[in-house]
Amino acid sequence: MPSLDELPLRPELRGRSPYGAPQVPATHRLNTNENPYPLPAELLADLGAALGHAALELNRYPDRDAVALRTDLAAYLSRTSGEPVEPGQVWAANGSNEVLQQILQAFGGAGRTALGFTPSYSMHPIISGGTGTEWVDGHRRADFTIDAAAATAQVRDVSPDVVFVTSPNNPTGTAVALETIEAIYDATTGVVVVDEAYAEFARSGTPSALTLLPGRPRLIVSRTMSKAFGMAGLRLGYLAADPAVVDALQLVRLPYHLSSLTQAAARAALAHTDALLATVDAVKAQRDRIVAALPVMGLTSVPSDANFVLFGHFTDAPATWQALLDRGVLVRDVGLPGWLRVTAGTPAETDAFLTALGEVAATSR
Ligand code: PMP
Repeated sequence: MPSLDELPLRPELRGRSPYGAPQVPATHRLNTNENPYPLPAELLADLGAALGHAALELNRYPDRDAVALRTDLAAYLSRTSGEPVEPGQVWAANGSNEVLQQILQAFGGAGRTALGFTPSYSMHPIISGGTGTEWVDGHRRADFTIDAAAATAQVRDVSPDVVFVTSPNNPTGTAVALETIEAIYDATTGVVVVDEAYAEFARSGTPSALTLLPGRPRLIVSRTMSKAFGMAGLRLGYLAADPAVVDALQLVRLPYHLSSLTQAAARAALAHTDALLATVDAVKAQRDRIVAALPVMGLTSVPSDANFVLFGHFTDAPATWQALLDRGVLVRDVGLPGWLRVTAGTPAETDAFLTALGEVAATSR
């Protein structure tokens, strides 16, 4: 069996390991920011019917432009943001990861640069690398907020073709002020991607960057059905931007990238938006419960607008991660010294997490 080293692999991929959270068995899986609630029964029935209907035409390629789905997504964004979004401003792909990859294929690539403010979503540099885009780490303050003046100075200095702003940020939960996004936009001639995978979990009063779209043709807001909609298994991500951006992405997308089953299932789910998003408040309540419980244990957290909490400080975060796993609770070690990230789940999962943490906290601070 030849080893990977013997293959003519691209040099920059040598020695790399595939990205992904460790998939270890655990009673409580609070490590990948999924929604813990199963889909409502009415939706499951409609999904079966919608998939059955789509299956009748599986001998045909799907709608390459996913027009009906993009129309439904535009209606959802318009309704929830108050900002009118047209179907021509929306694009969809297999998870927001694929949306981000298409953005980098169109606007990044060899000889081009992407910049993001770390610590942030680790797939941004990885997808940049995969598309041959040079990655530059921008910085956040020690409290994980973005300093608008420092950020714009970095953007002017590096002159990137693509800038990533994750809001709310993963793994810290930090929302980014719209004024900061505006300032970054004004400082660059590249595209600015606001990754809003967790937008629906934001605390009230945290507006979406969708409201900044008018008059900003280089601004892209990406979203996903993996988190708030509770459909991580569906693999459906999407974006809103100027229609010219959507035209650009069509130059790099694979023809028929979004299967007819995916399109049908996503549309069936969007018809049940209110029932699906009813879980968001329950998840936010558990997030806030975790945040409130930490100081009692002598621990702290980063203010979170997402469905997870970055908590610490620990002298040895990997050892605490293991101690929690030993008690059946799987959280995420995101590689930030002293910190761990936990997904807000059901009340029972929060109970299990807080009980386990109470046992380990005294010895691990
Ligand atoms: N952006 C951020 C900030 C994320 O945390 C994630 C998932 N962890 C994604 C994008 C990708 O999500 P998906 O491909 O499931 O839409």
